This record gives sequence, structure tokens and C-alpha cells, in this order.
Amino acid sequence: MNLKILVQKFGGTSVATPEHRAQVAGKVSEAVSHGYSPVVVVSAIGRSGDPYSTDTFIKLITGIYSDVPRREMDLLMSCGEVISGAVLVSTLQSFGHEAVLLTGGQAGIITNDTFGDARIVRVEPQKIINHLQEGKVVIVTGFQGITDENQITTLGRGGSDTSAAALGVALNAEAIDIYTDVEGIMTADPRIVEDAKILDVVTYNDICHLAHQGAKVIHPRAVEIAMQKNIPIRIKCTFSDAPGTLVTNHQPDIAIGTDNIGDRIITGIAHTPNVTQICINIEDEENRPQAVKKIFKGMALADISVDFISVQLESVLYTVRDEIADKAVNILKNMGFNPKCLPSCAKVSIVGGGIADLPGVMANVGEALAEQNVDTLQSADSHTTIWVLVKKEHMVLAVQALHKKFNLGG
Ligand code: ADP
Ligand code: MG
Repeated sequence: MNLKILVQKFGGTSVATPEHRAQVAGKVSEAVSHGYSPVVVVSAIGRSGDPYSTDTFIKLITGIYSDVPRREMDLLMSCGEVISGAVLVSTLQSFGHEAVLLTGGQAGIITNDTFGDARIVRVEPQKIINHLQEGKVVIVTGFQGITDENQITTLGRGGSDTSAAALGVALNAEAIDIYTDVEGIMTADPRIVEDAKILDVVTYNDICHLAHQGAKVIHPRAVEIAMQKNIPIRIKCTFSDAPGTLVTNHQPDIAIGTDNIGDRIITGIAHTPNVTQICINIEDEENRPQAVKKIFKGMALADISVDFISVQLESVLYTVRDEIADKAVNILKNMGFNPKCLPSCAKVSIVGGGIADLPGVMANVGEALAEQNVDTLQSADSHTTIWVLVKKEHMVLAVQALHKKFNLGG
């Protein structure tokens, strides 16, 4: 039987209440009525603070004990998706669909053994295919997999998007539909920018850059996986019939008009709050290269990921996430450095394929921030992105000002 497979992923807010789950079932029914065999990937119910959310489970242990075993932490964290998936089976049954729930392992998602942040090494989709051929809707718990040694693992933040993308590729799906609480990928986070505009089409590359810079509407790893096999991703809203955003390789011909992907200079503005800027003066003039080597080796050995790196002759600047800043500083002090820290900063990023060729982009950035009297603590650029580091209390203002300066609003 030739199956027309569609992966449909539903985030935490989409499965939060019986009414929402009925809307999820509506989207699944719609897919079935169009001749698709749906593979439904679910996240845990709700967000932080909700009774069955992953964060709530984490707090059951970490609020009381330190040094929680990572294997058991993953077992605990994998429960949220099992709960929402099991509930959704009944919802779908009530809509007249025969449905079956598979855990990540049962669905054939095989990972390495990096508990808490495991990577998918392969997908063995035969069990899913068998169920689909029997006419069932297959629900798969997102965010998790299993190692070759049968250990349950989780895939890290945004992991359900990654599960959906990996399944879409392994099953050669027609598309991977990511359903969430917004109507598509927008020019900025709509929680911050009121007139953020929905993008009809974006390239894998553009959304990857936006996602890496903090636009959490989709996880960048999911985009990278789907891109390998050119499976289209669509970002859609569970609660409306809006067409959403299509993510593809396709670059439509450059035409006159501003809605065209080809002539878009800036795709959007993203932000990442809660980072600490670390500044180290290198006093030992004789040994500067060694000092630089020592700093970054020290961070790497402690598994601390560094960002926004700027090495100058007499100083080294970089950022780390606020929650690991103390650890980073202690390491530096133990190595004999005297780091200066600026906590609670935010990285604001202007992303777009047209930046490289356009003169005056940085002048516009400077102007937008000056108009709001926002200090730039650090900046950097590549051919697709300009980053500025600002104080966290200036983040919203900076995002809004840049969005306006580049006329991204609807
Ligand atoms: P889910 O639980 O469905 O995975 P997420 O919270 O991970 O949902 O992602 C959806 C949220 O992403 C939206 O509610 C929105 O606030 C946020 N977001 C950030 N940047 C963007 C953007 N550029 N476009 C759309 N949404 C964005
Ligand atoms: Mg998400």
C-alpha cells in the first residue's frame, strides 16, 4: 500500500485542555480526510507550572536534591509526553479514529547516550509503517528516544520538533506540520512586537538562523534535519485555519513587491535573554596567545558553551548563559584570571540573507538604538546576521525599535 504520510507535531499549549485536544483531533481528521496517514508527535501538556509539564516533573527532584542521576532524570522527563499521548489516543478515538501511542523507543528513534541532550543516530520506522498500514493514526511521544542499550533518553529543549523532523525524513513524509499557538513564523516574537508580520515562505537557512538566535517557534536542529531531505516544514496554528509559514529551499523568482522571499533583506529580529558578558583583561604581554588558549580550553573542558566571542589584543570578551556564569568565573579565577562579569544581558539579532550586500544596515541599527537611548555592550556581524548585546531591561525596546526601523511590521 502506498502511504501518503504527514507528520503533525503539536506543542504543549496545543494539548493543554480537552477543548484544545479536540482542535488537535480536528487537524488530524482533516489530514485523514485528505487521504493522509498522520503520524502525530506530541509534547507534554502545558507549560511551566502546569501539573503534567516537563518543568513540573523536573522540580519534583531538583528543588530538593542536587546531583540527580542523569539517567533517572531522563526517565522522569520522558513521562510528560507519555501522559499527553495517552490522553490524545482517547480524544482521537472519540473522533472515530483508531489510534495507537508509541514511545520514542517504540517508534524506532535511536539516540546516543548523552542523557538530557541526546542526538538521534537513526530512525527505524517499520513499526510506525505497520500501524499506518492497518489504518491507525500513530501518535509518537516527542522529545525522546532510546539507546542501543535500551536506555530512555531525552533530546533537550525543543526536542519534540526534532522528533517530528527525524520521523518526517525517515518516513519520507509529504510535509512536517509544526502546530503551535501562533499563526506562523513572524518577523519577531509577537509577545514583544505587536505588529509582527507572518512570513508566508522562508528558506531553511533563514529560519535556522532565526531559531539559533532565539526565535523559539521551531528548534534549529529540526530545521537542519528536514533540510537534508528537503522535506517541507509548515508552521501552523492549532487554533485557526491560517495557512501558516512554509519553510523550504525554494527561492521564488525575484519579483517586484515586498512579500517576495527573493528580495527580502531582513527576515526578522530574534532575541535571547539571560546571558552574562565576561570580560578578561590579559595583562601578561609575553603570553597573550597562551592566555587565549587557556581561557577557551578551560570553558570547553567544563562543557560550557560560549557565544559572542571577541578576542582583542588586550582582552577577551564572550557570553555564557546566566545560570552557568558562576561556574565559568570560578574556572577563570582558578586559572589566575581576573574576569569582570555583566549579568542579565540580552542578545538581539537582526537576521536576513540581504544584509551582506546592503550598505547602511549598521547605520540603521545604530540609529534605532540611539533613538531609544539603548547602550550597545558589544556587537558582531556575519553575512546573514547582525548581533547586538544590550542590557536585559533594554531588550524589548531594542527589538521593537529595530523591527520598526527596518519596516518589518504588518
Ligand atoms: P510549542 O509549545 O508549540 O512548541 P513554543 O513556545 O516552543 O511552542 O513556540 C511558540 C512561541 O514562539 C510563540 O508563542 C511565540 O511567542 C514564540 N516566538 C518567538 N519568536 C517567534 C517568531 N519569530 N515567530 C513566531 N513565534 C515566535
Ligand atoms: Mg517549541
